Amino acid sequence: MGKIKKVLIANRGEIALRIIRACKELEIASVAIFSEIDVEGIWVRKADECYPILGDVVQAYLDYEKIISIAKKAECDAIHPGYGFLSENADFAKACEENGLIFIGPKPEHIELFGDKMASKVAMKKVGVPVLEGTDEPIINIEEGAKIAKQIGFPVIIKAAFGGGGRGMRIVRAEKDFKDMFESATNEAKKYFGRGEAFIEKYVENPRHIEIQIIADKYGNVLHLGERDCSIQRRHQKVIEIAPSPRLDASTRKELYRIATKAMFKLGYESVGTIEFLVDENNNIYFIEMNTRVQVEHPVTETITGVDIIQRMIEIAEGDKLQFLQEDVQFRGYAIEFRINAENPQKNFMPSVGTISKYLTPGGPGVRIDTSIYTGYKVPANYDSMIGKLIVWALDWKGAVKKAKRALDEFYIEGFPTNIPLHREIVRDQDFIDGKFTTNYLDKKMEIFT
Ligand code: ADP
Repeated sequence: MGKIKKVLIANRGEIALRIIRACKELEIASVAIFSEIDVEGIWVRKADECYPILGDVVQAYLDYEKIISIAKKAECDAIHPGYGFLSENADFAKACEENGLIFIGPKPEHIELFGDKMASKVAMKKVGVPVLEGTDEPIINIEEGAKIAKQIGFPVIIKAAFGGGGRGMRIVRAEKDFKDMFESATNEAKKYFGRGEAFIEKYVENPRHIEIQIIADKYGNVLHLGERDCSIQRRHQKVIEIAPSPRLDASTRKELYRIATKAMFKLGYESVGTIEFLVDENNNIYFIEMNTRVQVEHPVTETITGVDIIQRMIEIAEGDKLQFLQEDVQFRGYAIEFRINAENPQKNFMPSVGTISKYLTPGGPGVRIDTSIYTGYKVPANYDSMIGKLIVWALDWKGAVKKAKRALDEFYIEGFPTNIPLHREIVRDQDFIDGKFTTNYLDKKMEIFT
């Protein structure tokens, strides 16, 4: 028996339920928290205990002093942060430890390092990871930015230094556009992240987004669980994720695995994490960022490897050694994940809210659904629009696409619009079926899809 007997889940929605399920199978008690608007959340009922956090409904999942005090009152040994909210907050991870609670995730120093995109590029370069040419320091001054952009050479991309989710990002193709773009990028960054600092790097034309799942224990055993292809994006945000990548040559794949595991070993990383790369048309590899948490798309990796990422993450946090070696990790078939969002494809993907009046999920072999919705559930407008995930699996790529078609056709949600119709179009598109897609695929196809 491990030393973790009770876990507080500092999150909501599908990931809260996913973590509760992992705890149940490990025979660990689970404690849910919920905001005033989330009283009907399914994770609240599925956990062994639940506690409300009153007041501002978004702040509820960010109020770490309150969350820690609940964890202590409920006599928890550990806290799982899920993704989003406090998951990449180094101060929260530290506060957990200071209060005698195990933070189920990496060390605070790594959360801090990779929370700063520029500092992480510098650190990764030092351990042999190829990075894109760009600024090492945050830029506020527009003239200075323009000078640096010219040195790097257009096209460049401006990114929020402390941002995420594709926000505060602008592609600049010509010098004359730089100042306007810089201004709008930093304004957006200020609005969303409270910090306007930006950095500039070379823009890669038509890349694929390939990321490596890392799993590492406290004893220097660093393994990878293969790659995910997350090139199907809308405005730099992931929509569909695939494992393994259907069009990645064997030597590039091998090189990505080698670079990623070596870097994490050298940095002494522990827990799970994802290293994101861009791969250009000539198979050049560039690191863009690292996520120090479990990701939304972790189920595709679980599906092709059989490794339960959340369960292993909990065991690593309590100090267990990884029970398998790299050569034990077997990759089988193809898995595709579709993010189901409450948004209206007919109205420029505006978030939609409402009550689910009818709900019928796909099933059968090779279908997994991770969601927290049910008939009668009212989707609140206060949080992310992702309401669930459909994951399909088949032995080969063509089979996985056919499975996806069938499952998406079965999926029925009534009460408000979702992006399921968009997914149905994508899986019928010849370029998708042929595995011919880069990060620009969906934004380009949008005109013919909707
Ligand atoms: P975020 O943290 O906001 O998600 P990322 O740095 O992970 O931002 O990038 C998100 C996406 O933006 C990438 O998957 C890719 O499509 C695009 N992108 C980011 N950097 C570049 C770049 N230098 N060149 C081309 N595309 C990029």
